[in-house]
Amino acid sequence: LSGCSHNKVSYDQLQQILLDTPSSEKAEEWSKYYTAGPHLAGKNYSQALWTKERWEEFGVKSEIVAYDVYLNYPVDHRLALLEKHEDGNDTSAWKVAFEASLTEDILEEDPTSGLPESVPTFHGYSASGNVTGPVVYVNYGTYQDFEDLLKANVSLKGKVAISRYGGIFRGLKVKRAQELGMVGVILYSDPGDDGDVTEEKGVTTYPDGPARQPSSVQRGSTQFLSVAPGDPTTPGYPSKPGAPRQPVESAIPSIPSIPISYVDALPILKALNGHGPKAEDFNKYWTRNTGLQYKGVDYSVGPTPDDVVVNLYNKQEYVTTPLWNVIGVINGTIQDEVIIVGNHRDAWIAGGAGDPNSGSAVLNEMIRSFGEALSLGWKPLRTVVFASWDGEEYGLVGSTEWVEEYLPWLSKANVAYVNIDVGVRGTLFKASAAPLLHNVIYAATASVLSPNQTVPGSTVFDEWDGKISTMGSGSDFTAFQDFAGIPSIDVGFNGGLEDPVYHYHSNYDSFYWMQKYGDPGFTYHRTMTQVLGLITAQLIDLPVLSLSAGDYADALGEYIKKVETKLDGVLSPQALDISAMSEEAIVELRASHRNTSSIIDASDVPGAESFKESLKRLYVALWDLTKNAVELDEHAKVLAEKVQEHIPWWRFPERLKLGFAIRKVNTKYKYLERSFLFDEGLDGRPWFKHVVFAPGLWTGYAGAVFPGLVESIDSEDWTNAERWVDIIEACIGNAARKL
Ligand code: GLU
Ligand code: CA
Ligand code: ZN
Ligand code: ZN
Repeated sequence: LSGCSHNKVSYDQLQQILLDTPSSEKAEEWSKYYTAGPHLAGKNYSQALWTKERWEEFGVKSEIVAYDVYLNYPVDHRLALLEKHEDGNDTSAWKVAFEASLTEDILEEDPTSGLPESVPTFHGYSASGNVTGPVVYVNYGTYQDFEDLLKANVSLKGKVAISRYGGIFRGLKVKRAQELGMVGVILYSDPGDDGDVTEEKGVTTYPDGPARQPSSVQRGSTQFLSVAPGDPTTPGYPSKPGAPRQPVESAIPSIPSIPISYVDALPILKALNGHGPKAEDFNKYWTRNTGLQYKGVDYSVGPTPDDVVVNLYNKQEYVTTPLWNVIGVINGTIQDEVIIVGNHRDAWIAGGAGDPNSGSAVLNEMIRSFGEALSLGWKPLRTVVFASWDGEEYGLVGSTEWVEEYLPWLSKANVAYVNIDVGVRGTLFKASAAPLLHNVIYAATASVLSPNQTVPGSTVFDEWDGKISTMGSGSDFTAFQDFAGIPSIDVGFNGGLEDPVYHYHSNYDSFYWMQKYGDPGFTYHRTMTQVLGLITAQLIDLPVLSLSAGDYADALGEYIKKVETKLDGVLSPQALDISAMSEEAIVELRASHRNTSSIIDASDVPGAESFKESLKRLYVALWDLTKNAVELDEHAKVLAEKVQEHIPWWRFPERLKLGFAIRKVNTKYKYLERSFLFDEGLDGRPWFKHVVFAPGLWTGYAGAVFPGLVESIDSEDWTNAERWVDIIEACIGNAARKL
């Protein structure tokens, strides 16, 4: 409590400092610095050093933490369309019908698009290879798209896939193509996915207008994210120099892939015209957002005939090389309750004004604001750690290695992790978070004015749809949430359908684009800094942690219902509404299910119908958790009110008692998420330890809930589904007991 430290800045004052200090000009200055040159993973030491120096200027003790990681850098590539022509003498010869440029246009207006050292278009962790074969259009390359192709008897073996970006994480497109015997993958950006802002709809292209620059290419990692993120040679342990290395076959592709622009894709897509079934012969997912009809593409699936093939050549150099996280620490009064805020610094390209350096600018500006508080005598209640991660783009490498190294300490001390990746690329606030932390986001956004004043005085909260997604993957929160069981938050301003097209992982995600289209005046950068500051301040300085165990319990109830609804797809709906049940009914239900909690043997494999009965066990377990969670939250509220009463120092026994009570409550909140870790991990991906949250096996970005259970149901493996009910029931029970 305030009397036991020498804190000169109250919580109210701290909040005011975090609202008043952030400036758009400063954010712009940080953005300008980071986006002025290449900062690929393992090649950005000067930016790591610069970041450390700034943070130290702001009053935060910082250090560079290095790992030796396995990465690839591009050497050479080629993509060409070849056609066989009769040459008149009964023989035939291959002619190059089209040679892809594989480069993005240099734009005079956008200086970083023309840097001599700008990074070629390539895929992180892609395989070297030189392959030639007919082409098949595979839509978004989702698991279901490939299933549709198999069902339609489209030949895939030995063919090269051309897929549009979107829907799922790109590495999973390559993974499935590889599993089905395809020999290479081409990924292109279809302007149909750019919403209302397209050339086809009359919008001018970048740099003169907000539509997609036609030569833009989305680089990006093709790691098989769903297996494990981080350095693929050290799953589960840190890539320290000299660490033993594992084979990478199951973690990264063995077939080559290449990213291209829609301009480069056009001749290949047109070569498919009239061959095989058409997109419209499949389901509506195949015709959704197709944007190149106006350029003469009819979205035929192929394959192209044997005399029309592509040659795909990809040469990568693989090295084990250092990368650099910057870690800053402000020690709090309570050092075993730690709050961590992080952003990645590395980018695929020279610019990276949106990804990740809008987040980097915001993080710097927020740390500068906390520095302001420090200079006024602020002493944080809890320890706060700031992180500038390297190697996120290749597969969350810097953050994952760090979490793997500091796991024992994090498990003991880390209360929450707050991530900001693309902090600004449009005007729509978006968040994903663990349910325990929903509260914190609502409170912070409601205290910050929105740059978009539809109604005078409207806050970020007012302008937001209020939806908080579950944690999937695709950024640095993954190791915290899914491996270490630390409740996490990820926030940013996203683009809407009418916002200027964001050139994700392209040279045009540049400072010029941000200044002209993304965030003119950098007002959203400033706003994001305020939101991030208030989120962080709440977590650091409120004596009673403002986490909500009740929200977690409610969310679990929703997720169980989701599983039930899934079963209802096959069965008669008969959802059990636990919230409407009396305590006696619960006791009875518990008694009737007492003996079902052991693993049922294979001779007794239940079907979906009897499995539904098993799900009731989760409701029963949850009933206990809910009861205890509500009690904890109520108790916490009472304690928080007591703190407000400011008990005078001479009533020290009372103060001491309150201090202990708060400590006890906070410890319960701190460890709640850990109860959902299962040491063996998910089936086939043991690195993922959380039984409630994981990236979807075949989505990557989008989250799955109860992944082990749901995957078992999907494969109708009822024995394994029972096993997962046991595991989840045990976790919920454990959590309930600890509350
Ligand atoms: N954020 C990066 C991307 O979406 C990396 C994601 C990952 O490898 O998990 O490409
Ligand atoms: Ca590792
Ligand atoms: Zn990013
Ligand atoms: Zn990225």
